[in-house]
Amino acid sequence: MSRYIGPVCRQCRREGTKLFLKGDRCFTEKCGVERRAYPPGQHGQGRTRVSDYGLQLREKQKVKRMYGLQEAQFRLAMGSATRMRGRAGENLLSLLERRLDNVVFRLGFATSRAEARQLVRHGHFEVEGRKVDIPSFRVKTGTKVRLREKSRQIARITEALAVLERRSLPSWLELDSENFEGLVKALPTREDITMPIQEQLIVELYSR
Ligand code: SF4
Repeated sequence: MSRYIGPVCRQCRREGTKLFLKGDRCFTEKCGVERRAYPPGQHGQGRTRVSDYGLQLREKQKVKRMYGLQEAQFRLAMGSATRMRGRAGENLLSLLERRLDNVVFRLGFATSRAEARQLVRHGHFEVEGRKVDIPSFRVKTGTKVRLREKSRQIARITEALAVLERRSLPSWLELDSENFEGLVKALPTREDITMPIQEQLIVELYSR
């Protein structure tokens, strides 16, 4: 599957908000949004009028980029969210939060979702005692995610755990840092997602 290999900060600047894609750098004055708070490109500083469609598209792109998904993956998630009971937008955010790479990031084993995805892909985690290397694996209530024994000396993981307090652990997760293990206490709800997201715009975009 293809993946975006262009400048990462450009994506935040395009969406006009910090998406926290680069780990520690996002908390420093080197952050692209802090340094150049306008969209990238030749016309970035010009005046623009955004249509309803444009607003919906930007909101979808923002969430898609935040979770590091490709269009096809995002569309599949939207399809599942629509078929579930309840509000499609909230279901979508809950499904995205339940991805294994996001859980690894939220637990503090990585400083960004991209890093978490790579750690999962490289087989550093086990779910319920079995190695899982699929970033899109969906966790359930009661799922235990553990860093594998052989991976506990990796410096970038221990360093990431050391700065977890920067991001605070969400209430639906529990971390046992001594045993490098996380527990999904409950499914994430809308209140657990604190990033400014207008999910209704995404639902409207896909119902066009
Ligand atoms: Fe986005 Fe982080 Fe780059 Fe800032 S440093 S623009 S938050 S990826």
